[in-house]
Amino acid sequence: MEINLISDTVTKPGHEMLQHMFRAKVGDDVFKQDPTVNELEETLAGLFGMEAALFFPSGTMANQTGIKLHTQPGDEMICDKWAHVYNYEGGGAAFNSGVQSRLIDGNRGMITAAQVAEAINPPDFYHSPLTSLVAIENTTNKGGGACYDLQTLVNIKEVCVKNNLKYHLDGARLWNALVARKQHPKQFGQLFDTISVCLSKGLGAPVGSVLMGTKEDMDRALRIRKIFGGGMRQAGYLAAAGLYALKNNVGRLEEDHRRAKQLGGLLQQLPWIQTVEPVETNILIFSLKPQYSEAALIEKLKQKSIFISSLGKGKLRIVTHLDYKEVMHQYVLEAFQKMVF
Ligand SMILES: *Cc1c(COP(=O)(O)O)cnc(C)c1O
Repeated sequence: MEINLISDTVTKPGHEMLQHMFRAKVGDDVFKQDPTVNELEETLAGLFGMEAALFFPSGTMANQTGIKLHTQPGDEMICDKWAHVYNYEGGGAAFNSGVQSRLIDGNRGMITAAQVAEAINPPDFYHSPLTSLVAIENTTNKGGGACYDLQTLVNIKEVCVKNNLKYHLDGARLWNALVARKQHPKQFGQLFDTISVCLSKGLGAPVGSVLMGTKEDMDRALRIRKIFGGGMRQAGYLAAAGLYALKNNVGRLEEDHRRAKQLGGLLQQLPWIQTVEPVETNILIFSLKPQYSEAALIEKLKQKSIFISSLGKGKLRIVTHLDYKEVMHQYVLEAFQKMVF
């Protein structure tokens, strides 16, 4: 039994999801003729109360398309210093859109309206890049699954409107936030110009993300997706997994959160642990006391078939997910409890 806690992207589709995929009606989605992709897009647009949606092969491509939609080369995008769009998309904002990032020193990956307001370049001062976009991440990845207060997002939106900035949400793990904070997708749909959500993390689909926005923006996004090489043909088999996941795997995210919190609670009591960051959703970030080695812990856990990852700078990460079952959880709790260096 291998227990992979490296990421919530490691899940594999189960029997029922696969059955659902096998039965999908498909067509050529490049001609917008795949009924299952169309159904997924309509379902998500409806759920978020946004005009239209577009299916993507990855969250990275969905975010990059959002950035491309809202900017011109030479513009500046405001985001947190830990943002996925800045750290983990291969420099895509610069490569694809010619955009540079204005990094904010946020709290656990979250930024405030005051910080955004302060980071905006005066639009008539042509020496500095034109600020055109604010990108938010919820939940935060590197920030340990932290969730924004809705009011903070409303306040940032006001700054965007006042300063003519577009507002993008990288919602790869928005499902976790919705469940943890008991929020409704429409509360987010109202706020943002574009939202990307991932179907292959907490929801457990094998592939896929969706970008949502106005009809006009999604028409333009279709062209950008084509240019990025993201036009897929009989993609309905993949979209079917997403539809199945939306129906069956959202509510159960609570279990992932409960297990991550329980692990966090245990780790806090262990004498060799230095810090455990607050656990709000399915990500647990912790560090060891200086005399203990992260590599040694990773190796010891590996010998017990438990896999966790290092984030560098002394931080270790555990991510709970759909394929992390209760028996595994009990085994992992015991392994940590009995760990000796
Ligand atoms: C995983 C993730 C993405 C997208 O990643 P892909 O691997 O391209 O699907 C985007 N943003 C955040 C915050 C993520 O965690």
